[in-house]
Amino acid sequence: MTANRPQPRPGVLDIAPYIPGKSSAPGVAKVFKLSSNESPLGPSPKAIAAYRAVGEHLEDYPDGSASELREALGTAFGLDPARIVCGAGSDDLLNLIARAYLTDGDEAIHATHGFLVYPIATLGAGAKPVVAPETNYTVNVDAMLKAVTPKTKVVFLANPNNPTGTYIPFDEVKRLHKNLPPHVLLVLDAAYAEYVQRNDYESGIELVATSENVVMCRTFSKIYALASLRLGWMYGPAPVVDAINRIRGPFNVNAPAIAAGVAAIRDTAHVERSREHNTRWLAWLTEEIGKLGLSVTPSVANFVLIHFPESKGRTAKEADAFLTKRGLILRQVSGYKLPNALRMSVGTEEANRLMVKSLAELLGKPA
Ligand SMILES: *Cc1c(COP(=O)(O)O)cnc(C)c1O
Repeated sequence: MTANRPQPRPGVLDIAPYIPGKSSAPGVAKVFKLSSNESPLGPSPKAIAAYRAVGEHLEDYPDGSASELREALGTAFGLDPARIVCGAGSDDLLNLIARAYLTDGDEAIHATHGFLVYPIATLGAGAKPVVAPETNYTVNVDAMLKAVTPKTKVVFLANPNNPTGTYIPFDEVKRLHKNLPPHVLLVLDAAYAEYVQRNDYESGIELVATSENVVMCRTFSKIYALASLRLGWMYGPAPVVDAINRIRGPFNVNAPAIAAGVAAIRDTAHVERSREHNTRWLAWLTEEIGKLGLSVTPSVANFVLIHFPESKGRTAKEADAFLTKRGLILRQVSGYKLPNALRMSVGTEEANRLMVKSLAELLGKPA
């Protein structure tokens, strides 16, 4: 039967719309937005200056191949710029990967508490998201491998993952890759790689360089603090790069983003400051919140997942309302199948201290 109005392709209306972190607390004078893993230190002043300079020439189209940015990334990470594609955030790239490598009836695997963009991109491409169970809020490679079927075309792995903050060692990533069929594309989403301070972690550059079925996505939204400009990049094998370049928008990255990105990559001192701030306060928050009797999933990223009891007055939902009244905006994560937890981005010293003080109050403990 012919429909009497336009119908989206199958799968589109199965997508649960992505709900971004809240950004306001009505009636509160001072608000700390800790709901979207943004950087408390902000971007490099050099990136802001570069962004402003482009404002003098808004009539010009950007360089559609973002050459200067790919060159800067190539120099910074020791990569061939020809194998880099830039995108309007890594969301753009994840969607392009889904569109290029998935079709009706295909399957794409992600972990239980994996980043929500994966099922959205998968359904948008007409394919089926397949969920692989986790162990202790951590990706389980055996479970991912078990989920592989003849229909599997893509495996999405956020390492570290959002919203759990956990990671798997590079040996495990390699074991996952080694046991995947060669036609399955392994997408390593390393949005938080710059924060990780573990000897057994790697973002995946080496694996991309030596394989034909691995890509790595990175973002300027987190440690580089350019989330508002929407800028990300991927490094992949030449045939994958070629496919993505064919379907991406010819000017998918705007000129202010390219200019700011180049300056941000070069300002390594600023990145170092941001990393140091995070390392210090991530440990402090984990310890102090733990001391209050709440369980915090060990995180290597720039946020913590805090688990709340189900007792009345202290559930995640009630804690969220309580904290919002004090100007602390956290992220509810029930959409990630974590109804009893809240995610908190590492904030400024002031925000972090207020958070621990407020949690103590909520739990009726002396601060
Ligand atoms: C924040 C985040 C990104 C980055 O998204 P952008 O579109 O680049 O802002 C990618 N993956 C994960 C897991 C994230 O948490």
